[in-house]
Amino acid sequence: MGKPTGFLEYDRENSIAVEPKERISHFHEFHTPLSKEKQQLQGARCMACGVPFCQSGMMIGGMASGCPLHNLVPEWNDLVYTGNWEQAYYRLAKTNCFPEFTSRVCPALCEAACTCGLNGEPVATKENERAIIEYAFSHGLVKANPPKVRTGKTVAIVGSGPAGLAAAMQLNKRGHLVTVLERHDRIGGLLRYGIPNMKLEKEILDRRIQLMEEEGIQFVTNADVGKTIKAEDLLKQYDRVILACGASNPRDIKVPGREANGIYFAVDFLSAVTKSLLDSNLTNGEFPSAKGKHVLVIGGGDTGNDCVGTSIRLGAKSVVQLEMMPKLPDQRTENNPWPEWPRVCKTDYGQEEAIAVFGHDPRIYQTTVTEFMADEKGNVKQAKIVRLEPKKDKKTGRMQMIPVKGSEEVIKADLVLIAAGFLGSQKYVTDAFKVELDARTNVASKQVPYQTSVPNVFTAGDMHRGQSLVVWAIQEGKEAAKAVDESLMGYTNL
Ligand SMILES: Cc1cc2nc3c(=O)[nH]c(=O)nc-3n(C[C@H](O)[C@H](O)[C@H](O)COP(=O)(O)OP(=O)(O)OC[C@H]3O[C@@H](n4cnc5c(N)ncnc54)[C@H](O)[C@@H]3O)c2cc1C
Ligand code: SF4
Repeated sequence: MGKPTGFLEYDRENSIAVEPKERISHFHEFHTPLSKEKQQLQGARCMACGVPFCQSGMMIGGMASGCPLHNLVPEWNDLVYTGNWEQAYYRLAKTNCFPEFTSRVCPALCEAACTCGLNGEPVATKENERAIIEYAFSHGLVKANPPKVRTGKTVAIVGSGPAGLAAAMQLNKRGHLVTVLERHDRIGGLLRYGIPNMKLEKEILDRRIQLMEEEGIQFVTNADVGKTIKAEDLLKQYDRVILACGASNPRDIKVPGREANGIYFAVDFLSAVTKSLLDSNLTNGEFPSAKGKHVLVIGGGDTGNDCVGTSIRLGAKSVVQLEMMPKLPDQRTENNPWPEWPRVCKTDYGQEEAIAVFGHDPRIYQTTVTEFMADEKGNVKQAKIVRLEPKKDKKTGRMQMIPVKGSEEVIKADLVLIAAGFLGSQKYVTDAFKVELDARTNVASKQVPYQTSVPNVFTAGDMHRGQSLVVWAIQEGKEAAKAVDESLMGYTNL
């Protein structure tokens, strides 16, 4: 343990965020990290608890609590405090393939379970993680380390999101020859085309992919397995296949007028903006324009928030974000105690920006859309919204959100972004491999974890667990790699 009294002596200090009105003028990350010395004091706040929930990654109360990767949080917090940055990196890299991603986009399940958070502010573990990995990159500690011996076994990984990348890194380290196939023009899955630049600059992704290439992993882009590449060919060509295609089936809003122009799924909108940004710094205009438009975002979650922040950067005239459920409380309630994940209302960066620009929170709770109205050219112009109230279903006892009669209202909407969640895997890929699905259309792995119903075909990430988080995708990729390695070699040391 670093400093026994650290948590009493030092307050939590976070990196400085650029003011909302200033940062909306660009698509770059907008946090200035603390100085090394200040970050070390944040490490000193860790109490190295006897039972550190922060690194335990368990399901408590139906939600994950603590780091799913079991990052050795108290160990490296201590090494941060003592300024042992190099050792801190080696301990961090032991469990986390990509700390540069998680330390930017993870919701920090570790911090929600930190004992310091019981009576005050949790240890700034996520920013300590970022300081360690950025120190390691800037001091040349993160190097390509190709395997000394090759096994001669081959593995194809379909999908280059965090799950596919983590599996690739682990299997290549073991000496297997790994090829990652990606249908998009660039590698990274939702890290590339989903999570906006403001949260994760794409150079961060590129520097990691370059290292992985130097380590011998082959990346093939524009390779749509199940369409341009046949599943049978992959199974013949490779000893094992891992399906890590994500949960990219968006939930639709099926109401009258849905066919109008100007209504997009959130990921299609966000990925078009990022692609245009990467291809031409937005000059090619190949994305749905939000300039001067009344933007309606349907879905109050994180993806919806990314749409709010992106629309504002593109010059939206107004932004409204609809959420079906009631507003969460500002503080934990009694039935949601520590170390459960706190079900509290948070105001994310996009919403902060909307408040700064338009003077109010863009979120409207307990509300949904019942109709879209278009002009004579078929372009969406308005949406009819209705208020909802929770009512218990008499038969099932479950809570349902029921429309309130007479509460309908028409609002302006000339760009609509649907961020209403995802419904599992895409049929054309699962059909191509004939893998069994579970009730939620995720790929099932019944007997052996991560092994599908089809011999030699494994699965990982959102495609397996359903829409989730980057940290879970990395964990799934690592675990699937273990299962593949064991099936190839009879044992695994991963
Ligand atoms: C807008 C948005 C923002 C998010 N923000 C966060 C965040 O801030 N923090 C966080 O922790 N999580 C976030 N998430 C969730 C997180 O991105 C996902 O949980 C994670 O990326 C899942 O990783 P994955 O590797 O399983 O799948 P994905 O990242 O979805 O990658 C799957 C890849 O497979 C490719 N693919 C699919 N089918 C084929 C095929 N047939 N052939 C070849 N390639 C194929 C896809 O093109 C894609 O590149 C966000 C999600 C979205 C949509
Ligand atoms: S990966 Fe996420 S949960 Fe794990 S230590 Fe880092 S920020 Fe915390």
